Amino acid sequence: MDTRTVGILGGGQLGRMIVEAASRLNIKTIILDAPNSPAKQINAMTEHVNGSFSNPKDIEEIAKKCDVLTVEIEHVDVPTLKKLQKQLPKLEIYPSPETIELIQDKFVQKEHLIKHSIPVAASQAVKSTKEDLLRIGQEYGFPYLLKSRTLAYDGRGNFVVKSPAHIDEALETLKDRPLYAEKFAPFVKELAIMIVRSIDGKVYSYPTVETIHQDNICHVCYAPARVPDSVQAKAQILAENAIKSFPGCGIFGVEMFYLEDGELLLNEIAPRPHNSGHYTIDACVTSQFEAHVRAVLNLPMPKNFSQLSTTNTNAIMLNVLGDKEEKNKELQMCERALNTPSCSVYLYGKESKPNRKLGHINIIGSSMEECERKLDYILSEETAYKA
Ligand code: ATP
Ligand code: MG
Ligand code: MG
Repeated sequence: MDTRTVGILGGGQLGRMIVEAASRLNIKTIILDAPNSPAKQINAMTEHVNGSFSNPKDIEEIAKKCDVLTVEIEHVDVPTLKKLQKQLPKLEIYPSPETIELIQDKFVQKEHLIKHSIPVAASQAVKSTKEDLLRIGQEYGFPYLLKSRTLAYDGRGNFVVKSPAHIDEALETLKDRPLYAEKFAPFVKELAIMIVRSIDGKVYSYPTVETIHQDNICHVCYAPARVPDSVQAKAQILAENAIKSFPGCGIFGVEMFYLEDGELLLNEIAPRPHNSGHYTIDACVTSQFEAHVRAVLNLPMPKNFSQLSTTNTNAIMLNVLGDKEEKNKELQMCERALNTPSCSVYLYGKESKPNRKLGHINIIGSSMEECERKLDYILSEETAYKA
């Protein structure tokens, strides 16, 4: 479909699923990450680069071998990308380095969103001192969140400051990291939306979904979200407006809080495929991964491509995390999923470790009740699925 080579910074599961989508279109991808990373395992190219997406030399090496450079993670070295943009004018980098820079520091991201009138929880930069954290408690009340501005994922980098007595532990946990404080958002549900932005700046919204976290890691995702249609539509407009404010193209994940009073606050944006969009592989006309490939290569994106496959398609995505007690025990859940109609299992080629994201299961049904029955079975100890 396109003779250009796409280089991907990062070879984890998101990179692996980008490779899968690209390969169906005969699009060549090469990866920068450690040897045998999940994306390299399914891609027999010889031009891969062994190294790190945070190392300037390694990024320069892969950049020379590709026409379009993209990312599966936001924690990449942006100064190198900016330098390459000048040195190699023919190289296209998506999402744009400016966008990655605005997003990778979560506090800078918040300020950018406020500037563009996107509602977010109140936040401010803080010093790593007891006095400053006490002052925040007086201003925001307890609990509030102390967050690392950079290198955050799966809640590692967040601390919920429940009372003045928790401040010492918060400082110890997040020591040596640049911090900001955020007011607690009393949400009733967490919502998420994938948005794809084309090279000409148009934005296309996927359905509004509902995510449920356990230990700060996404556990399940309901598509569409179990909220009124009006809330789903409002969330899509909010997400579209947010993504319109970032230059460049590609897929974005937008996380939101749905509050008791019906208001929506944007939590954070990921400039890449997102865990809350894995359901799109089986439930939507085009997956988030193929949408990303189409966006960065300027391939067609017809009007309906981000919609659910049919008007009665419902989906639940269940993350497969490493069992906390017994290595590989999570595979039992995958076996039950294989034994269930309209379920697909995706494993990422990673070694089982407690709570590590090892795969996901997409459950499809013509109603959410049907999906929930299948989910109950997969999470049970039962041997057979009873329809
Ligand atoms: P991710 O893996 O999504 O990148 P992260 O480490 O960047 O996660 P956040 O998205 O900031 O972390 O927070 C993780 C979770 O903590 C949120 O999904 C939400 O459940 C909770 N949380 C974060 N900020 C707030 C807030 N201001 N009020 C209430 N809960 C919050
Ligand atoms: Mg994050
Ligand atoms: Mg998050």
